[in-house]
Amino acid sequence: MFAKDRVKPVKIDQNEALLRGLVDNHPKIPLIEQDFKKRKAGFNGEKAVDYQLSFLTDKKYMIFNDLKLPLTPHHFQIDSLLFTPYYTLILEIKNISGTLTIDSEFNQLTKNYNGIETGFLDPIMQAQRQKLFLQRFFYDYNLVIPPIEYLVVISNPNTILKMANRQTLQPPYDKIIHAQNLIREISKLNSIYPEEKVNKRELRKIKKVLLNKHDTNFTSILNTYGINEEELQRGVYCEICSEKMERVYGTWSCSSCKFSSKRAHEQKIEDYFLLIKPFITNKELRKFLDLESRKTAEKILNSLNLKTTGSTKATIYHKEFH
Ligand SMILES: [Zn+2]
Repeated sequence: MFAKDRVKPVKIDQNEALLRGLVDNHPKIPLIEQDFKKRKAGFNGEKAVDYQLSFLTDKKYMIFNDLKLPLTPHHFQIDSLLFTPYYTLILEIKNISGTLTIDSEFNQLTKNYNGIETGFLDPIMQAQRQKLFLQRFFYDYNLVIPPIEYLVVISNPNTILKMANRQTLQPPYDKIIHAQNLIREISKLNSIYPEEKVNKRELRKIKKVLLNKHDTNFTSILNTYGINEEELQRGVYCEICSEKMERVYGTWSCSSCKFSSKRAHEQKIEDYFLLIKPFITNKELRKFLDLESRKTAEKILNSLNLKTTGSTKATIYHKEFH
C-alpha cells in the first residue's frame, strides 16, 4: 500500500523550464541537458521499482516514495521507504545501464557503457549513510526505532553487476540487487524479522510524522546552477520559428511566420514559477513577458485562476506546487 505516492519531481520540470528559458548558446546548457537526462532516467527507474512494489498488497506494508526529511541543518532524501511493523527497508534506486563493476577496496562503482567508463559513488555507502540519517530522524522525533535494512535496487534489467577480482558479490555488496528480485529479498527479510517491533498506535504516529515532515519547499534551480535572473530570455517566443511575439488586441502574433496564439504566454508564466519563485506581481509579469500595459498584464493574470493575496497594485498571484 502506497502511503505516499511518487509524482514527477518538480526538479525535472524546473530543468526543462531552464533549458527553454536560457538565451541560446548559454555556456551552462550542456551541463543542464546532461542533468536533465539523468533526472529523467532516475525517475523512470523509480517507476519501474514502484511496479515491483505494487505487488505488495498485504496491509502490513506501508510505502513512502520520495521522502525529503529534515536533519538539521540539512535534509536527506529516500527514494522509497518500506515500512512494516517488523522492520523498515530503505531502497536506494539506481537507473544505470551497461556493466557495473564494484570495487570494495576503493569504494567505487565503475560503469562501462559502450566502451566508455564512468565512476560513481559507492551506492552501499550512500545507503548506509541514509540508514544513519533515518535512525537519527526517528530519535529526534521520539519515534520507536525499528530494525532498519537497506537495498540498492538496479532498475534496468539489462545492467550487468560485477565485483572487481571476485566471482560473486560479497557482503555488503550483495545488497545491490536487480528490481525483479526485490520481492524475493523482501520475503527473506520477512523471515529474518518475525517479531513485531512497532505497534499500530506507533505506526500511525510514524506515518503522520513522515508525511508532515516531508519537505515540499521551493528550491531555486537558478541558485543550483549559479545563474542570474537576467540571463533568462524575456518576452514570449514563437513556438514555430522562435522569433519574439507581440501581443496585439489580446492575441500573440509572430511577425516573422504569421503564427498567432491567444495562449502563448501560459508556458512562459509556468516557467517563471518554476525558475524564479512560486508567486508573481503585475510588475514582475510585465518585465518577464516584456509587456508595456498594466491592464494587459492584469487580464492575463486574472485568466490563470491563481490564488491571490493583497489587493489592487500590490496583488500577488500564487502558484501552488505539490
Ligand atoms: Zn513565428
